[in-house]
Amino acid sequence: MPINPVRFRQSMEEMARVGATKGGGVNRLTLTDADKEARDLFALWAGDADLDLRIDEMGNMFARRSGREDDAPPAMAGSHLDSVPNGGRFDGSLGVLAALEAVRTLNDESIVTRRPIEIVNWTNEEGPRFPPSMVGSGVFAGAIPLEAAYETRDSEGARFLDELERIGYRGDAPCTPRPIGSYLELHIEQGPVLVNEGVQVGIVEGIFGLTWLRVTMKGERDHAGPTPMHLRRDALVGAARTIAAIREIPEKLHPEFVATVGELSLSPGAINVIPDEVTFSVDFRHSEPELMNEARNLVEEAVHREAERENLEVEIQDVGSSTPTAFDAGVAQAVRSACEESGYSHRSMWSAAGHDARYAADLGPAAMIFVPCVAGKSHSEEEDMDWEDGCRGCDVLARALVKMADS
Ligand SMILES: [Zn+2]
Repeated sequence: MPINPVRFRQSMEEMARVGATKGGGVNRLTLTDADKEARDLFALWAGDADLDLRIDEMGNMFARRSGREDDAPPAMAGSHLDSVPNGGRFDGSLGVLAALEAVRTLNDESIVTRRPIEIVNWTNEEGPRFPPSMVGSGVFAGAIPLEAAYETRDSEGARFLDELERIGYRGDAPCTPRPIGSYLELHIEQGPVLVNEGVQVGIVEGIFGLTWLRVTMKGERDHAGPTPMHLRRDALVGAARTIAAIREIPEKLHPEFVATVGELSLSPGAINVIPDEVTFSVDFRHSEPELMNEARNLVEEAVHREAERENLEVEIQDVGSSTPTAFDAGVAQAVRSACEESGYSHRSMWSAAGHDARYAADLGPAAMIFVPCVAGKSHSEEEDMDWEDGCRGCDVLARALVKMADS
């Protein structure tokens, strides 16, 4: 069942015009007018493909194609149509529209699968307007309470529920866990592994776990002139040494371990004042829970060691975490077989970025498919993809989806 690459590309390009930015990206923050426009376009196409569209109370959109055994849990595939501010045009859209192309191909060939197929567009995958990310799939999986999601406010005070109603996408279907036969998500890699290795398809076998901490170090505010060096309790010096130590942690643990300090604020922030308080974030990720625990211990050790050296008080706050999620070997095998049928080079890998597949995996067997993106760049207008890579991904998704729908 060959997909139609021209039709697929046309749909991708049409979707990329919704919220298009001058720099070639898209601006489709969750529950904005641009998000509504993208949803309307997807709904229109779902109707054209004779799909039965259901919208749940979180605004998640499920476009369903009947199967021979219509009560069987569906073979699901999808991703998200929202974006980060000035994001790329492939992140998310690729997974939704490739699933649509797979279904259009099945329609062309009048193939009926055993299970129904559902294409999903998850609400608020990205999260910058209404944190955290992956809220639509998180509520669907029962991991985030609906009320908590509804009450989230953006930086201007607008409430998630009000915005969802404003754009007309608060649906009737309950957003509660239900079994799914399988879940597949095609996505650009958002990293450089495939492109650097010249591999066409990534078979994603899991998603890294993540730990977010906020560290506060407190010293003593004082005059930068009269205070002798040996009497200082400089919170920024303690923080700087700690951050440098955190940079060294990944290499002690695993070549694929990553750790980042991405936020830092200091007080009072004046040229002639010794800083008395510094707060910074820590983000670390890996696939092994034991190494995640070890990293946490090493971060704590570094914080306490450097605090003692500078005579500071410290506080370490947990601000979020997710455990590593291993995907299903059977679904990954269906992806591998699809690659082999089409003669594409492939490799197994884990995703270091979060995706809705993480929550979908709580409800049924799941896996993801990655295709290379130019220079490994994403969450930026510069994000780009070679169309041949995208079409290969779409082909693999279509084949693997049919295998799962017939399983
Ligand atoms: Zn994405």
